[in-house]
Amino acid sequence: MQSIELDAVVLGVMDYGEADKIVTLFALEQGKLKGLARNAKKSRKRFGGALEPFARLRLQVTLKDGLSTLNGADVINVFPHIRTELGKISHAAYACELVEQLVAEGETNTRLFRLLTAYLEHLDRVPQDASDRRFFEANLLKVLGYQPELARCACCDGELAAMQQLRLAPSGTGILCGSCARTGRPVSSDTISLLIRSLSTGRFGLVRFPPEGLAEAGAILDAAIACHLTRPLKSLAFMEQVSC
Ligand SMILES: [Zn+2]
Repeated sequence: MQSIELDAVVLGVMDYGEADKIVTLFALEQGKLKGLARNAKKSRKRFGGALEPFARLRLQVTLKDGLSTLNGADVINVFPHIRTELGKISHAAYACELVEQLVAEGETNTRLFRLLTAYLEHLDRVPQDASDRRFFEANLLKVLGYQPELARCACCDGELAAMQQLRLAPSGTGILCGSCARTGRPVSSDTISLLIRSLSTGRFGLVRFPPEGLAEAGAILDAAIACHLTRPLKSLAFMEQVSC
């Protein structure tokens, strides 16, 4: 079978048997896929130590149903500055685990690939930041079609921009106006505006949430993400631990 080249980010790596590794990838041309890297544990000749979490690689792959075969790898970017700081590692691992969990195998998503690689490049350049994490999550939900409704009340469809006393819907999937909800977590219109801005600027580092806005945006985004998770994120506890 023919070997093709893929531009891919390593989402996860696990040892397989004595010598092999199974690598989960998100590729620009192919979406999410799993590949078997034979002898990757013992011989560094073909993979040169490139099969590391969140590395961006040019891979030679023989595509197969289920488990593809990885024939070789060239490093595009290992994001060296991320690897020297636990806080950055935890944010990169979290972003990769989110993509791994929320994306089905074989679904190409160019915008998601660009979002993930832009986040890794940003993390490599500057310290990790809670606003950037929320910016990534908001845009991740958008490019996957899971974006929470931010412009209209989830109950009466009224325009939220004109309303006061907004609250997070108990289901976690939207915002309610003051007439539709008397209980639930309050959310300020400033936070909604910053989230809407996050979805329109397209560049990391431009949107900064104040502390209360971070907590509110976090409640909205965590609830929206939780709707689509099938198991808890292993990287979340690690990220919260090292971010304190
Ligand atoms: Zn309403």
